[in-house]
Amino acid sequence: MSALFQNYARRPVHIVEGKGTIVHDNQGKRYIDFTSGIAVCTLGHAHPAIVQALQQQSEKLWHVSNLFESPEQEKLAASLVQDLPLSYAFFCNSGAEANEAAIKLARKHTGKHHIIVFEQSFHGRTFGAMSATGQDKVRNGFGPLVEQFTTLPFNNEAALEAAIDDTVAAIMLEPIQGEGGVNVITPQFAETIQKICDEHDILLIVDEVQTGIGRTGTRFAFEQTALKPDIVSMAKGLGGGFPIGGILGAAKLFDTFSAGTHGTTFGGNPLAVAVAQTIVEHVFNEAFLQRVQEKSAYLQQKLQQAFTDEKFAIQGKGLMLGLYCGGDDVASYVTQLEQAGLLVVQAGPNVIRLLPPLTVSEAEIDKAVAILQQVLVS
Ligand SMILES: *Cc1c(COP(=O)(O)O)cnc(C)c1O
Repeated sequence: MSALFQNYARRPVHIVEGKGTIVHDNQGKRYIDFTSGIAVCTLGHAHPAIVQALQQQSEKLWHVSNLFESPEQEKLAASLVQDLPLSYAFFCNSGAEANEAAIKLARKHTGKHHIIVFEQSFHGRTFGAMSATGQDKVRNGFGPLVEQFTTLPFNNEAALEAAIDDTVAAIMLEPIQGEGGVNVITPQFAETIQKICDEHDILLIVDEVQTGIGRTGTRFAFEQTALKPDIVSMAKGLGGGFPIGGILGAAKLFDTFSAGTHGTTFGGNPLAVAVAQTIVEHVFNEAFLQRVQEKSAYLQQKLQQAFTDEKFAIQGKGLMLGLYCGGDDVASYVTQLEQAGLLVVQAGPNVIRLLPPLTVSEAEIDKAVAILQQVLVS
């Protein structure tokens, strides 16, 4: 009997420790972890640099209110926006909270309320983020949603052009839809969105909660597209497993989030910031990102060699890849892979999502692909 709400379909595996890409369960069984806690464990499990950052900070100070100044948050903000067309950061605790901040900032800044979002998107479970999410299974049953979100088909220029009028405050999207199936934005759609935002003075919110912090081979995924966001939301990979979220905003938004307009008790907590600073210093580094791109190319090549049947397709960028398995429902594959020692996540009904730590080795990629091949091609 469990005293927990059963709101998760938990797999019957109790993971008790991890190092790098490898985790062990309480029976001593070893798994290659290609989930990274859903794109969270950026530097793998128990990376010495983040263990040390957390230990050192935990001996100094655990919490200080945002009533007081924080040079540590200032430094993290500066590290995140460096060389990007974004100027200011706000820190919170999760992806949904980051998107709430993004939505509030866009509405307050423009004085408009209408936000365009896309089918199969996922932005989180709070009321605002849920209302922005283009999936009925996330929204149904909770009564009236936050008003004035319009959901359009993804990668469809005509539908977007037809929906634009002077009530639109913002367009909000994931550059690669994660939960929705590892669906990558097309170059044409990115160009159309940016053109529309420029011409109509519409804000662009890019949800990089899953794609950000090096996951796709660049600091943020939007850098590989024509998108020039006014607001970027982040969370998952930023803390490497320690809860932290945040937004980055363009200079013109500075006055909108003035004192008292928005906030959170825990946001930018010293423990979270110490860990995130360490992560960002590792990842926002040309050589590190270059390695992510090399490992992505290697993983894609190995997958192509292993899955020659045309029912399979490889989607995604960097180390956020999806293996589309024809029309097959992949839930049972995920279980079989787990039994064979490889942890993966499902995305949409038909895609196996591969999200190894960014520190994964080529040897680990070889082993993971061998297990995928053994389970899926028999
Ligand atoms: C996971 C996710 C969220 C929600 O983040 P939480 O930390 O679970 O609130 C929002 N957007 C995207 C793209 C995500 O992948």
